[in-house]
Amino acid sequence: MSRLTVDIREKRLAGRLVLGAVAFTVEAHEVVALVGPSGCGKSTLLRLVAGLDRDLTGTVRWSGAAPRLGMVFQQPRLLPWRTVRQNLTIAGAGLEEGDRLLDRMGLADKADVWASQLSLGMARRLALARALAVDAQALLLDEPLASLDEGNQRLARVILREYWLRRPVPTLLVTHDLAEAVALAHRVLVLSPGPARLLFDHPVPDGARTDAALAA
Ligand code: ADP
Ligand code: MG
Repeated sequence: MSRLTVDIREKRLAGRLVLGAVAFTVEAHEVVALVGPSGCGKSTLLRLVAGLDRDLTGTVRWSGAAPRLGMVFQQPRLLPWRTVRQNLTIAGAGLEEGDRLLDRMGLADKADVWASQLSLGMARRLALARALAVDAQALLLDEPLASLDEGNQRLARVILREYWLRRPVPTLLVTHDLAEAVALAHRVLVLSPGPARLLFDHPVPDGARTDAALAA
């Protein structure tokens, strides 16, 4: 399993500084949440980690070979003129695992519908199902539960925890919701307002990683 080491000195977009000094590691089994205010650079950081943007001062390294990534973008990037099921299989999911996840996400009856016909909440559930269906060796999740209603957020949290129990892959989870970070992650990294710098890198106590913590 891969371990991720990030050591960003600075990142500019169109000449403007959007990320300052952010350095951390994610161990092979670890779920690490990135929390920070809107616009601080979280999505930019995730794109750098994914290798979708390589223009930075600093380094992003995986131990061993670069892992196969399961990724959720902040705006779900689906293939609109493919069915819901095809959005999974084209991404590399097996039919059986794809259908199992659609069922778990409450999308079984949408399997043969065009992805363009899904509501935003359904599209987000499909985007998460796709990331979990492709036998990923690492997960990069950009606000995966945003704009889901309370019931679907709870469902998605349960599905994520089940996934990590079966497959403890290194995960970076971006969220601006501290309660969600505490409920899901082993460690929480708190970023400053943009250009983001790393303010705190803090472990979450075992007992806090439950929905009880969210209800409190
Ligand atoms: P977050 O995900 O934390 O809300 P982003 O990473 O999306 O923040 O954005 C960080 C900063 O970079 C914001 O000020 C945003 O306006 C800016 N930004 C994002 N994309 C671009 C781009 N393509 N060109 C220039 N600036 C951008
Ligand atoms: Mg973002």
